[in-house]
Amino acid sequence: MEIEVRKLAADEMEFLLTDANPAFANTLRRIMLREVPVMAIDEVEFVANDSVIYDEILSHRLGLVPLKTPDGYILPSECKCDDKRCEKCSVKLTLKKEGPAVVMSGDMKSADKEVVPVSDSIPLVKLADGKRLQLIAIAHLGEGKNHAQWQPCVVSYKYMPIFELDAKTCDACGACVEWCPQKILELVSGKLGITDVERCTMCRACVEACPKGAIKIGHDGSKFIFKIESTGALPPERILLKALDILGDKCKDFVKQLKKL
Ligand SMILES: [Zn+2]
Repeated sequence: MEIEVRKLAADEMEFLLTDANPAFANTLRRIMLREVPVMAIDEVEFVANDSVIYDEILSHRLGLVPLKTPDGYILPSECKCDDKRCEKCSVKLTLKKEGPAVVMSGDMKSADKEVVPVSDSIPLVKLADGKRLQLIAIAHLGEGKNHAQWQPCVVSYKYMPIFELDAKTCDACGACVEWCPQKILELVSGKLGITDVERCTMCRACVEACPKGAIKIGHDGSKFIFKIESTGALPPERILLKALDILGDKCKDFVKQLKKL
């Protein structure tokens, strides 16, 4: 099994997984979505809220602000502290603002400089002249399987497309070139070719457009093109590495359980 990184930016990653199978690809996708822990606010204490938004709605909004997640924190379920508010499992953020103002995510002051909103410019609420907002928010590590606020990314994959052309049947009429929405088919010197098979979405428009039935679209069940888009809580490559670690631990645990039988 191999992973070839095709694109790596601050919040996006594209890679090719080869010599794998659909079960493995889907397991990897699901672990990245559901089990790689990140920080998010899940407790809010309001000192003052004169805004037009109810405490409940505002806390929900705060909970969905992505927070940068450094290493070193542990899940509250794994922490021995009683109130789940110690420095190992939680971070306190405070907010104090008076109108007129638009309160932004960047107005929150964090007790840990590494646990801060991914963006300072997420609008939270508007305050009219003289209206106040003051609160204490507690962020914990959590997993996407419990709430989307702890989902570190969106991730998808597709099978590697296979484009097959029966050159003897094809009369180079060009109908498929016109119908392909990705514009990846071309006629060069009276011969049909494909410029970039990986961009094929397997929509089969070319198959339907061909009057001669010369085109077949299939897929390779051992090659997968993955795309990860991080919320910014963790860099995409860290999400992948953490997911692989989690999968490794699950496999070890499975073997351990089997040996007990
Ligand atoms: Zn704790």
